[in-house]
Amino acid sequence: MIPGDGTGPELMDATVRVLEATGVRFEWDRHEAGIDEYARSGNPLPAATLDSLRRTGIGIKGPTTTPVGSGFRSINVALRTELDLYMCVRPCKAYAGVRTRFPELDIVIVRENTEDLYVGIEFEQGTAAAQRMIDLVGELGGRIRPDAGISLKPISRYGSERVVEAAFDYAKRNGRHKVTAVHKANIMKFTDGLFLEVAREVAARHPDIEFDDIIVDNLANQLMQWPQDYDVLVLPNLYGDVISDLGAGMIGGLGFAGGANIGERAAVFEATHGSAPKYAGLNKVNPTALILSGVYMLRYLAEADAALRLEDALAAVICKGERVTFDLKEDRNDPAAVGTSQFADAVIEELNS
Ligand code: NAD
Repeated sequence: MIPGDGTGPELMDATVRVLEATGVRFEWDRHEAGIDEYARSGNPLPAATLDSLRRTGIGIKGPTTTPVGSGFRSINVALRTELDLYMCVRPCKAYAGVRTRFPELDIVIVRENTEDLYVGIEFEQGTAAAQRMIDLVGELGGRIRPDAGISLKPISRYGSERVVEAAFDYAKRNGRHKVTAVHKANIMKFTDGLFLEVAREVAARHPDIEFDDIIVDNLANQLMQWPQDYDVLVLPNLYGDVISDLGAGMIGGLGFAGGANIGERAAVFEATHGSAPKYAGLNKVNPTALILSGVYMLRYLAEADAALRLEDALAAVICKGERVTFDLKEDRNDPAAVGTSQFADAVIEELNS
């Protein structure tokens, strides 16, 4: 269990309490990661945290802050790469009672988690390394301005095939009828183009599941206009990140979007949202996203009954709309909104009722 930083620890407290209230017995192996740990030890992702995940093969993680522009690189990217958590599954389902114009929305985002621009291979402008890249591109007939920073975007056949296969497998196991591959293959022919080519090959092996594809900018528009046309979306890393937040916005906000990072040997469950630092320590933000991530963890652990009871209890609290956090209220400043911890109390009472 990794509480994380910012609002992470208070969200994790709430989540641990409701998970334990299901009656499933947990032996938590608590480890640190994040900006507070960086301030303490100089390492935002201690070896002991990674070792624990390697040993147990399972984790639940609160959000962790990544400094913008400079500073250490993302812990999340490091975790996903180190443990080869190649698929990120983010269901976007609108629960009754949330403020949304898309009350019927029920899609699942499957994001590739290890490749694309997130590999972090960058060349800082003005450095000898950037100049070598610029020279190489020049030799190959291209042109990059001498004052450019450069990022590499590798998308492999291997990485694409396993995540698209996983998306079809998810669709089959969860009674879903369609997979849509999302890309920008009109512009990036050898990266997104490869992703699309491989997706079509994989789709041909699963004739029982409908398949289509869409260019990512068009998806952003279509999803708003005709959300019922979509079921499971499979996307390369960057588009998966952006569309996940769009999906979260459509189901009531980031407070409702849970997720799972899954590989062959390990799985780490975490919300889509970040550390929301401006709310840290205020007992204010919505723990639903992390609790839902806990529900997915219970399912992964074959605790289907506990998962169902917890999801039902959560849905009941949201639907009643009384003991809920500010983001569920018509007016965000509604004094009747409860805090993170009191929301968890309401879920526990519902579980026990
Ligand atoms: P954020 O997701 O932390 O917050 C954006 C806004 O969304 C908040 O200001 C708040 O209005 C709302 N929000 C988020 N979580 C909420 C919740 N549980 N309940 C109610 N409202 C909620 O995004 P950000 O501000 O762009 O990022 C903050 C930090 O988090 C950055 O350092 C970023 O790198 C990091 N981050 C971490 C993860 C992760 O750990 N998996 C994911 C995304 C961002």
